[in-house]
Amino acid sequence: MNGMIGMSELMLEEEMSPKARNMAATIHDCTSGLLNLLNAILDFSKLEANKLDLEYSIVIIEKIVSSSLFLFEAKASSKGLSVDFELDDDVPSEILTDETRLRQILLNLIGNAIKFTSEGKIAVNVYLRSTNEISFSVKDSGIGISKEDQQRLFQSFTQVDASTTRKFGGTGLGLAICKGLVDAMNGSIWIESELGQGATFTFSIPFIPKSAKKPQISTPVHDISILVAEDNTINQDLMKGFMNQMGYSPDYVSNGKDAVEAMTMKNYDIVFLDAHMPIMDGYDAAREIRKLSQSQNSPWIAALTANALESEIQKSFDAGMNAHYTKPFTKRILVQAITEMMDSKTKVA
Ligand code: ADP
Repeated sequence: MNGMIGMSELMLEEEMSPKARNMAATIHDCTSGLLNLLNAILDFSKLEANKLDLEYSIVIIEKIVSSSLFLFEAKASSKGLSVDFELDDDVPSEILTDETRLRQILLNLIGNAIKFTSEGKIAVNVYLRSTNEISFSVKDSGIGISKEDQQRLFQSFTQVDASTTRKFGGTGLGLAICKGLVDAMNGSIWIESELGQGATFTFSIPFIPKSAKKPQISTPVHDISILVAEDNTINQDLMKGFMNQMGYSPDYVSNGKDAVEAMTMKNYDIVFLDAHMPIMDGYDAAREIRKLSQSQNSPWIAALTANALESEIQKSFDAGMNAHYTKPFTKRILVQAITEMMDSKTKVA
């Protein structure tokens, strides 16, 4: 995938007729769509094969919803949409559930709500449906779905009509994956909507309460600032594509020395460091950055490498990095890094 995206990018830098350029640009756009599709199919086949194991841990409800909303903040504000979050008082602050899967469902529903809404607002509500069942609803003021199309919604590869893909992109797998995940958690998911009147998607899962008191969380409300150090232009272009899709505009440098210098000019929340770069590699850069920053504005640093060898991972942590990701860069890596960065900040707060 890296090769395909990268080569089409390079091709666009060559001299060619407007017609050929148009075709090359189309190839480039389609490839990133293909990568999204691949990821969705991977998830879907795991669900189909019943290979999905739930991992239970203590999850803070307010934190998981606000960090999911936070990821789409840039996208929502670029469309002029307001975003609301309401958490009923009787909802326990912490429950035992599968955090990754819960987040995945929320991200999917919130992402769709924003995608299919051009004006108005998105509202997330969390309430108790019964003493041991918690409901999350995502309401939008978008295009809505007719009663007849609602029947087919949660089936795989289904989009409401053929023009959807053309206008909005997508795979038609998102809701099928959500349904599979909710089923795996012994819950249910449903929709209430009228064509042209917005839509409300709600899922409800049984839960084990952890405690009754609401925690005080200070969510970072500023825009996330990101620095990317990557010397390979193909990989850099790939990252630019993903970042733009998610509404982020990082600063880019192409070696460790420039990354350290950039850190002296600006406080970044997240720094992605390619491990192997000329002049100064990612590990040395991480060590230098750690020396520079005081603890309160120390960035979240992630290594990006071609492989996930134990020794490489250890090397990243030894250099003071917080995470280690294997290339190619994907939306998932970005989501994970932002989530972990926010989790670490709320822990400090
Ligand atoms: P994708 O968004 O990748 O196409 P989904 O399974 O998430 O796949 O959604 C399937 C279809 O359901 C979408 O293509 C769209 O037609 C419709 N849909 C999903 N969410 C909404 C929404 N919030 N408002 C209107 N239509 C929606």
